[in-house]
Amino acid sequence: MAGCWGEPAQTVAVAAQRLADVGAVQRSPLYRTVPLYRTEQAQFINGALLLETDLAPRELLPLIKSLERQAGRAISAPRYGPRALDLDILLADSIVLHSADLHVPHPRLHERAFALRPLLDLVPEAIHPATKRRLADHLTDLGSPELEPIGELEVSGTVWGGR
Ligand code: ADP
Ligand code: MG
Repeated sequence: MAGCWGEPAQTVAVAAQRLADVGAVQRSPLYRTVPLYRTEQAQFINGALLLETDLAPRELLPLIKSLERQAGRAISAPRYGPRALDLDILLADSIVLHSADLHVPHPRLHERAFALRPLLDLVPEAIHPATKRRLADHLTDLGSPELEPIGELEVSGTVWGGR
């Protein structure tokens, strides 16, 4: 769904731009994916960002939650339903962390091809620090879910270039 920053690809691009305030950002291609969990809704656009930052995951969490709100994500939006933006911390080096509001790696990373596929575009050799398996092997285990590549982020110069 569109949010305050525009259509999904545009929203991801603006989020990447804002995250560049705290470190260098690389962007994966985007994929159109069929919804999991709540299947009676529009398709999602998924991608991954690689952020080189000095912030710890615990420090990054409030920032990504704030970006979700700024992008127009309603606090009352149903879980797994349509939302303007969902930013998750999928992996942070080899950190394994469990606290009330933060789990790293993301607890459902290994069951989500829509997260693994773009993440592997950025870090093809990555190992899951909890399962100790290659992320590529986790993706293979999931078979061939429907992921339609839609290429690199299409960004209009006005939004990507300036705020
Ligand atoms: P999901 O991302 O699982 O679809 P939400 O975006 O609604 O669902 O996240 C719900 C809560 O999950 C967040 O408020 C956050 O505190 C918590 N959370 C736990 N681990 C993570 C993580 N690695 N990345 C982002 N949020 C996380
Ligand atoms: Mg989330």
